[in-house]
Amino acid sequence: MHQPKSKHRRRTRLVHAGHDLETSQGFVNVPAVRGSTVLYPDTATMKNAAQRYTYGTHGTPTTDALASAWSELAGAAGTALVPSGLAAIAMALQTAVKAGDHLLMTDSAYGPARRFAEKVLRPLGIETTYYDPEIGSGIAALMRDNTTAILTEAPGSQSMEMQDIPAIAEAAHARGICVIMDNTWATPLLFPPHERGVDLAIEAGTKYLSGHSDLLLGLVSANAAWWPRLHAYVDLYGIPPGPEDCFLALRGLRTMELRLKEAERQALELARWLETRPEVARVIHPALPHHPGHAIWKRDFLGSSGLFSVILKPASEAAVAAMLDGLDLFGLGYSWGGYESLIIPFDCTTYRTATRWVQNGPALRLQVGLEDVEDLREDLARGFERLTAYNL
Ligand SMILES: *Cc1c(COP(=O)(O)O)cnc(C)c1O
Repeated sequence: MHQPKSKHRRRTRLVHAGHDLETSQGFVNVPAVRGSTVLYPDTATMKNAAQRYTYGTHGTPTTDALASAWSELAGAAGTALVPSGLAAIAMALQTAVKAGDHLLMTDSAYGPARRFAEKVLRPLGIETTYYDPEIGSGIAALMRDNTTAILTEAPGSQSMEMQDIPAIAEAAHARGICVIMDNTWATPLLFPPHERGVDLAIEAGTKYLSGHSDLLLGLVSANAAWWPRLHAYVDLYGIPPGPEDCFLALRGLRTMELRLKEAERQALELARWLETRPEVARVIHPALPHHPGHAIWKRDFLGSSGLFSVILKPASEAAVAAMLDGLDLFGLGYSWGGYESLIIPFDCTTYRTATRWVQNGPALRLQVGLEDVEDLREDLARGFERLTAYNL
């Protein structure tokens, strides 16, 4: 259904993707089309469903524009839209597994993906084995006769391990196993998922696509082999995202590269500064040369986004609270990818099962926004003063 306009460079495509004069009726941003019922001109058209729009759950000009733009960016055969990133994970997994199947999931997966595997898939008769994100082609040893899907994510949620996606894909495809990747961190702009061997790529559009922390959206893009199955499966659920959210996502899409580039630049600047701080034990950012997955990041990724983690030197919970509670600019809140900076404490040791995550001090995840980076640095520096004062 979708025709990539590959003659243009990526940045140009980002501006024009998914737009056509007929569906937008000339408006630059495709209007938010609301509607359940679509009228047919006559019974013959109705009988043959011989028009593009048949009912609200099966697509509108707004959802079509967003889905086709995303497919073009991701190099996908098609994209399914759902109301949240977590719903995108659920749809991708359920497209690829059925009762009696075995699923491999990275130990570093987004927490709620793991909960979905345990609370929804396991009772349906689908067993999940968690694997070391750094396993690479060694994943072949974990495959069983009934393994049908692998859920990868790079870098890992919070802990930020890289994964050798092409090696995992090669091992998987040798046995007809579906490779699913949560690509939210990089977006297709920094990691072209299908080119690297991913069959189903998940994006929490809530993050960089929205870019403004004011909507929830999930996207699953698929290569040609998986698109018919994904499309048919998601359509059964009748869970399209709202028109306003798709409209806002289309608006966000046009500036996504600019925002990502700025987030990358600012995050790297802060990450390098954090490495010089005496309060910090380790900065975990794949674009820094000492990151264990740096070589993979350099080989497979086209850049980094604004989310990374740090491990502090040992400090009490109260000292970390003194640091975080007094921050002026870094907000304390979940999610990321918006224009504002955020920070959260985390602890991977509470849920890991396949690997032992070692952190000898408090761990923080930073989402670097679009504020002036000097102000952000000063905010953190004052935070460190409060941390140190509390520790004394
Ligand atoms: C936020 C997030 C999700 C879920 O997105 P929601 O829209 O919040 O449901 C999925 N994967 C990753 C990596 C995320 O960071």
